Amino acid sequence: MLYKSTRGGVGGLTSAEAIVKGLSEDGGLYVPDSFPQLSHEEIKELAAMPYEVRASSILAKYLNDFSVQELQMYARKAYGEKNFGVNGTVPIFILDNNTHFLELTHGPTCAFKDIALQILPYLLTAALEKTNEKRTACILVATSGDTGKASLEGFCDVPGTKIMVFYPRDGVSDIQKLQMTSQSGGNVNVVAVEGNFDDAQTGVKAVFSDEAFRAELNEHGYFLSSANSINWGRLVPQIAYYVSAYCELLTNWTIKCGEKVNFCVPTGNFGNILAGYYAERMGLPINKLICASNRNDVLADFLTEGVYDKNRQFYTTVSPSMDILVSSNLERLLFELSGKDGGAVSEFMSSLSRTGRYEVPVEMRGELERVFAAGRCSEEDTCTTIAQVWSDHHYLIDTHTAVAYKALRDYKAESGDETTSVVVSTASPYKFCDSVLQALGEEASAAGVELISVLQEFTGIPAPAPLATLCNAKPRFTDSVSVTGMKNAVSAFLGVGISS
Ligand SMILES: *Cc1c(COP(=O)(O)O)cnc(C)c1O
Repeated sequence: MLYKSTRGGVGGLTSAEAIVKGLSEDGGLYVPDSFPQLSHEEIKELAAMPYEVRASSILAKYLNDFSVQELQMYARKAYGEKNFGVNGTVPIFILDNNTHFLELTHGPTCAFKDIALQILPYLLTAALEKTNEKRTACILVATSGDTGKASLEGFCDVPGTKIMVFYPRDGVSDIQKLQMTSQSGGNVNVVAVEGNFDDAQTGVKAVFSDEAFRAELNEHGYFLSSANSINWGRLVPQIAYYVSAYCELLTNWTIKCGEKVNFCVPTGNFGNILAGYYAERMGLPINKLICASNRNDVLADFLTEGVYDKNRQFYTTVSPSMDILVSSNLERLLFELSGKDGGAVSEFMSSLSRTGRYEVPVEMRGELERVFAAGRCSEEDTCTTIAQVWSDHHYLIDTHTAVAYKALRDYKAESGDETTSVVVSTASPYKFCDSVLQALGEEASAAGVELISVLQEFTGIPAPAPLATLCNAKPRFTDSVSVTGMKNAVSAFLGVGISS
């Protein structure tokens, strides 16, 4: 399997090369030449297997310059009880006979990003070796809150890597912030950016595309790499949990093999739901992928109208990890919609950077409508949904998962579609205690991490261990920079002199 850029300028890369590079030189993202297929027989076989085997089987189909044994070893290390606890890596919670929650929240940082970021360091380290790369990888991360901590946790003290995380100063929850700023490890750095997530992401992309800076880093034995969901190594592990969810529904007799299911995904950068689309293209029986947006509903508009327009107000919401106006991974979907036409994708992207908008022609919208549906959820509805699910089912969900559940209910009411549905649950409610407590009608009597024990007492649901221990954590990293100061911050971290 070989990889090429969505913008058509680069091709013929092995998966190891695509993972090491992260972003293509022509500004595009790496995509596989074709989609490997998954037969119903294989799905039935995987249903009898633990998550490590399901994951390594999917990885092996895409990363065929890695050996199956190697991938199995990485999956075993990444997805075992030590990191994900005793209840299974990605368990299903049955809410009612039509609605299931795929809990991707049991990893070390309590967000779905762990699924990819626990295994990515193994993939990247092996890929460095396979590509004979001797320089140190400096991993730059822009985060809307959860990727930052999950990357730090994954790459902490991994030899041959340094990692630097930029988060929007006023755009993450107190708990997310302390999770990041208290990170241990000798190869890590965390900096606040004066701006929102899009500013941080734009800043990181600008550092990446600064050729003089890259040359300077090269002289000092460094190269830039990415742990954001633009990296192919982030996406491929995510395909596996869609397959795994389907396997779980088979094993608990909810569906028969071949029967279609819906997935409803709280979406920001379009990485999670894109992995669902890839699973569908591989042959996983999926009826609809429902893309759920919060108040920043640029994706919901795009999926219903075919026009992407980021010229709109940016809102800071109670679901901060979805506060995004420029969804990077949508570029990979455009590539498929256009029949793998790099020229067409380049034009959309150049229109986006010139005017902030693009419109896809009618011919491209058929595939969108075949697979995708869209929904949105206001701030108020997010809170009401958390309260309702709690009072009706005694099930506690976070602000992002609530957006998805609301979107699913609206979709079902509007379409009459009664297909078995899975809500993809992306974070522990304990990462967003203030909003969750407020939704449940509790006055916040404390601040920040102290609310963890308040929520625990109120609900009787134990906080996950990595968050429960945060109350003793001390921030190590307190710096903040402007978007234009990000390059200097990278230089200072790496001890590289600044020439421009
Ligand atoms: C990152 C994140 C999302 C959005 O996922 P994308 O892959 O960026 O679409 C949703 N919910 C939570 C909790 C997240 O951390």
